[in-house]
Amino acid sequence: MRLTIHEASRLLRSQQLSSVELTRAYLERIQQVEPKVHALVTVTDDLALEQARRADELIAAGNTGPLTGIPIVIKDVMCTKGIRTTCSSKMLQNFVPPYDATVVEKINAHNMVTLGKANMDEFAMGSSTENSAFFVTCNPWDLGRVPGGSSGGSAVAVAAGEAVCALGSDTGGSIRQPAGFCSVVGLKPTYGRVSRYGLVAFASSLDQIGPLTQDVTDCALLLNAIAGADSRDSTSVPQPVPDYTRSLTADLKGLRLGVPREYFVEGMQAEVGAAIRAAIGKLEELGAVVDWEVSLPHTPHALAVYYIIAPSEASANLARYDGVKYGFSYEADTMWESMEKTRGYGFGPEVKRRIMLGTYALSAGYYDAWYLKAQKVRTLIRREFNEAFEKYDALVTPTSPTVPFKIGEKMDDPLQMYLSDVCTLPINIAGVPGISVPAGFADGLPIGMQIIGKPFAEETILKVAYAYEQATEWHKRKPNI
Ligand code: GLN
Repeated sequence: MRLTIHEASRLLRSQQLSSVELTRAYLERIQQVEPKVHALVTVTDDLALEQARRADELIAAGNTGPLTGIPIVIKDVMCTKGIRTTCSSKMLQNFVPPYDATVVEKINAHNMVTLGKANMDEFAMGSSTENSAFFVTCNPWDLGRVPGGSSGGSAVAVAAGEAVCALGSDTGGSIRQPAGFCSVVGLKPTYGRVSRYGLVAFASSLDQIGPLTQDVTDCALLLNAIAGADSRDSTSVPQPVPDYTRSLTADLKGLRLGVPREYFVEGMQAEVGAAIRAAIGKLEELGAVVDWEVSLPHTPHALAVYYIIAPSEASANLARYDGVKYGFSYEADTMWESMEKTRGYGFGPEVKRRIMLGTYALSAGYYDAWYLKAQKVRTLIRREFNEAFEKYDALVTPTSPTVPFKIGEKMDDPLQMYLSDVCTLPINIAGVPGISVPAGFADGLPIGMQIIGKPFAEETILKVAYAYEQATEWHKRKPNI
């Protein structure tokens, strides 16, 4: 059984299918494909069936919520009360949170069914899900390749039909890049659109939670459920949440789209550039007015800015893992030895690399040269986006410069790995929303198109994404697994 949210919801509400049947089918599918793809850290069978039974009761009593009884998977970076939340790290391997993240409360309030927690790069640091301390997740389109990251488990669960939809988090591309690599839809909302309460912090000024789904309609439905201000996250913005499904009209007439040339970077795979240009041509056919010659000249600095700001914030956020408060604890004779060994064994190599980079950039004497300078360039990048959005309703780019790479290919070369996010990082730096939609294949491997919008203009990017999806068939192709 492979259904979208809106298809499953119709069947559930007309009682042609029960949530228990649906959930059983997905749990079986997980049993089947999990040995091949390794997308899930924890499967919550009992909880899922209990939630499904409750959903069926509600439906029988007249509940018509569009998400009631729909099976979902949650990236293992969001706190789930009573369910292990590991961040795919040895540090939190046995951590069971005493509370739910706000987004988890919200999907529970919408009576969704939680199937489990998805694998990820440790603490969301990575672009391939190879940095999980537990196992590597494989791309269902080619099991020898990475699914992207850090929300690789979430993207694979959706692409391989283990769940109807998933939640991921995105600090520099971690929803959009794996969505592109797995040929699913992934949206990073505007910074502040979705509460980060209960999301284990990586880089607090960049992190956002968002949906990974099989199509754009599902994306709008899930965003409806998770968006909104939260008194427990002071960075969440008190803007009313529109009904995002209203923007799914497939009418692009007169919409102004810009194509920033810096995103067709040197070293980009030729097939990716060609596929995205063809996709933008399609948007033009659909009535959009496309300017193919936009320039965002500060784009090349985004990678450097990101790799100063994100590690700096990470080094501060990860200071809390000292073996005293929660998580892994190494028992030793002295406090210092205990702390050293706790962090030494608990964190993997990429996390340590980030902590070192960030601590260096923040240290006295270097702060002005690195962190402060990066913040200034961040302002320039943000300004550049604002100026572009005076002329264009949205910007369109590739999601990644390449198709999914081979497992192991970039593990010894961090810079190459960091480069796989060149097209997505600037969007987090500017705090604006971005969505990746399936836009083609090269040698059977997926290509994603990124649509970037003004702050809080999720409706516009959903509209463009929907129009493109309605006019193409890419989202209907499923991996043969
Ligand atoms: N790949 C980027 C990094 O490693 C982004 C990760 C993310 O968005 N969480 O930091």
